[in-house]
Amino acid sequence: MSRIAYVNGRYVPQSRAQVAVEDRGYLFSDGVYDVIPVHGGRLAFDERYLDRLDRSLAELKIARPMSRAALLQIMREMVRRNDIRNGGVYVQVTRGVAPRDHKFPKGIKPSLVLMAKKSKAPPPDLLVKGAAIITVPDQRWARRDIKCISLIANVLAKQAAAEQGAYEAWMIDDDGMVTEGSSTSAWIATAQGELVTRPNGVEILPGITRAVVLDVVRELGLALQLRPFARDEAYAAREAFLTSSSNFVLPITRIDRRPVGEGKPGPIALRLREAYLKAARHG
Ligand code: PLP
Repeated sequence: MSRIAYVNGRYVPQSRAQVAVEDRGYLFSDGVYDVIPVHGGRLAFDERYLDRLDRSLAELKIARPMSRAALLQIMREMVRRNDIRNGGVYVQVTRGVAPRDHKFPKGIKPSLVLMAKKSKAPPPDLLVKGAAIITVPDQRWARRDIKCISLIANVLAKQAAAEQGAYEAWMIDDDGMVTEGSSTSAWIATAQGELVTRPNGVEILPGITRAVVLDVVRELGLALQLRPFARDEAYAAREAFLTSSSNFVLPITRIDRRPVGEGKPGPIALRLREAYLKAARHG
């Protein structure tokens, strides 16, 4: 079945979907996006994702292309038309189409594009063995809390990981602290078993999976510290894991080729993964 995209009011075969060369997303990365997960044929945590999309739009002063209710309707239609059981819906809004000029053009309409994707089965031994990651300098701009389509530093980080046979790259700020992964949020459990993840702020994207997992952590009454953690602390951690809408909770068992804890997926990460998946099926 060929995939169907949505482009500015029309559902079209994705292979024939087109945008204008003067779209400011294409020229300036002047746009935002989000990816809403689908579990069992239903959008999960859609209100939280739409809140984040609204916030990204507001921060860049891009007009909402339509009401939330209308957008949600299109997202659901994309799930239906693309027959998605498990996967995600990609939503991108750019400032619109205008002759190339840095400042905001007047009187243009934002461009709206949606695509839907089925999730691929993870590599067979990823969950059994856990993921290997590397660390790289964080070379992104100063507003990482905005889900902007400008992702070149994230692309380079993920490529560096791939070239070293690793699954993800954790980015390190100028103080030696982990910010987050190139497309995932970063967590450790210390030798004392306390969970640590960086608090939201301009340095990281406010991950929705992270937020859902934080709710679970609080419900389960697990020890938690919201604070930045150093790369060396990650090396010495009992467990490490990443979260994202497409990876859920994924144990990390190697950082820069050093084993984390016993080098096997840890019990806290696996428990949180189960709890997240249960919430996603009901969320
Ligand atoms: N951090 C970055 C930089 C991301 O790009 C993403 C997801 O795309 C995440 C974290 C995880 O966010 P979420 O859990 O909302 O998928």
